[in-house]
Amino acid sequence: MTDAGATRPDAAAARLHVAAVCRALAADGLVKGTAGNVSVRVDGGIAITATGVVFADAVADDVVIVGDDRRLRHGILAPSTELDLHFAAYADDAVGAVVHTHAPAAVAVSLVSDRLPCVHYQQLTLGGEIEVVPFSVFGSRALADATGDALSSANAVILAHHGAVTTGRDLAEAVAHTTLLEWACDIYLRARAAGEPAELSPAQQADVIAAAVATGYGYKHEV
Ligand SMILES: [Zn+2]
Repeated sequence: MTDAGATRPDAAAARLHVAAVCRALAADGLVKGTAGNVSVRVDGGIAITATGVVFADAVADDVVIVGDDRRLRHGILAPSTELDLHFAAYADDAVGAVVHTHAPAAVAVSLVSDRLPCVHYQQLTLGGEIEVVPFSVFGSRALADATGDALSSANAVILAHHGAVTTGRDLAEAVAHTTLLEWACDIYLRARAAGEPAELSPAQQADVIAAAVATGYGYKHEV
């Protein structure tokens, strides 16, 4: 990604915003109960959901601030058990927010494939083909490392038998990437139920990227 150093919210605004995103993810069916975590970069650390937060009911107090030194700066609850995974995703300076869910289509893809092929051109927003990293126990260093590696070259990764992680320059973009990934996984699963899905060739993908650059596709812009 580019555009490093986007405006960073202050701690209070970040906690409110993360809680609002959690409620929206639950309303959209992307998170059931406590099955996910969300973070956004703030000065000197990240604002991240506490462990055990019910997304549909999330409030600012359910979001804590953890410094880059991993110490709790604001809040009284224990941070998400996937704290290491989130910090691994922030290894790329351009990443401003991270969303992790157990969204059903992404989990289903992870049970039948070791990748989500590039089946629709919009997937290029995520990096094209999306890797499915092998299963590691939740909260483990191995899971964090594998996720960080995959996200060094894409805005999304699928975790086998677990869920998905997406990144964005800000929370809105990270959520949009989660929604797009889940949509693409659903298309792939439908196609796979009917036959062997075709995928976009490298040349077709290159043509799409060239057209997107030339037209500013996907971004609001003045004519
Ligand atoms: Zn998880």
